[in-house]
Parts: sequence; structure tokens; C-alpha cells
Amino acid sequence: MKEFSGLSRELKVSLKYNLTGNSTACFGEFVSDLDAAGFDRRNTLVVLEAVKTVDYNPARPEYFKSASEAAADAYISCTEAALKADWKISLSHVFQPPCMYTQEKPSTILICPDGRVSRYISVYTGDPDFYGGDVLGEGLPASGYGVREEILGNAGQCMKAQCPYFPICMTGCPSFKKMAMKSVRTAFCRRPYFERVVSGLSALRAALAHDYRKLDL
Ligand code: SF4
Repeated sequence: MKEFSGLSRELKVSLKYNLTGNSTACFGEFVSDLDAAGFDRRNTLVVLEAVKTVDYNPARPEYFKSASEAAADAYISCTEAALKADWKISLSHVFQPPCMYTQEKPSTILICPDGRVSRYISVYTGDPDFYGGDVLGEGLPASGYGVREEILGNAGQCMKAQCPYFPICMTGCPSFKKMAMKSVRTAFCRRPYFERVVSGLSALRAALAHDYRKLDL
């Protein structure tokens, strides 16, 4: 790390730390190493991301199950360690925002070499659930994709429960749903995970009011 630490004296530097069942316990050592390597606190941001078991990621015992409460606990314990050691920390991967798939009129699409359009960056296979037209054929659909109706169609339980996490969840990641649940027309509920993270962050804010400002959500 010493080779790169000098950059942080002139530039903003983000260091991503992948959390697994194994690496969580080593995070304290990692932040100590940042000091030893001479990273400049003013310009250095530590970014946490839990590594999850998904179909395109060969499962390992130390990976977290998607949206598991264990992953939420790992985020919170490492955030606490970073704040106590006076490092800026980003949890931008904790609440993954609605993605390009949820845009009725997307600002971003992927175009395959043969002209077919995928509405979603992780699914580039011509899957009809993610198909968004053909720039060499019929072009892009003029009337939108019906995304709003699709999401609302999946959200019966969310509405009934008046789930406060709907704006950041929107019934879950369509790519994950397709891989793990074999359909995009369903909800992948992460409410226990969200609640665990929020209660952990509330406790941190109460305990570390001054340092909490260094947290980037
Ligand atoms: S967390 Fe569960 S209940 Fe809440 S919006 Fe997501 S899928 Fe619906």
C-alpha cells in the first residue's frame, strides 16, 4: 500500500474493502495499515462492499448470502472501526439504489454487437425479460417498457405492509431475481437486512455523533 499512499496527498483516493466472513475480522488491521502506509485522511475514502453468493460468483463458505443480516452486521462493525480510527467511510453499496432496469426511459442501455439492446448491465444474453429493442432492426420501443406496472405488480406485499424501504428497494434487483428466483415477476424481500442496517446506523450515530459525519451513505 505504501506505493499508492503518496497519491492521497494530492488526489482523492477510494480504497475498496471487500467484506466476507473472513475479511471482516481483519478490517481493524487494515485501517491500522492505512496509518502505517501514510495515507492522508483528508483525501482517503474507504469503501465497503459485502461479497455475496450469486450465480455468477462461485460460492465460497465465507461469502455472505444475499441481503443476509450477517452482512448487515459486518457493515456496521467495520463502519464503527473506521470511524473510531478517524477514517472516512462509504456505505454506498449497502443500499443499492434502483438501477437502469427500473428506468422507463433509460438514460443508459447496453448494445450488443448484433444490435440487440439489453436494459440491464448484468444481463447481456438476449433474455426477453431484459430485451430493450434492436438498434439495427426495429429500433428502441417508442412507448417505454412498462417497468412501472411490472414493479407495482410485484409489490402487493410491500404496499400491504407499507414498507418504508420501497423507494430504495422497488421489490429488489431484477437480475438477482431472475438468477435466484427464476422470474423477474416476484419480490426479493430484503426488509430484515435493511432494518438491521438502519438500527445499526442509528446506534452508531448515537454513540459516535462527531465521527458519524465522516460516513458517506
Ligand atoms: S424490503 Fe420487502 S417489503 Fe420492502 S419494498 Fe422491498 S420487497 Fe417490498
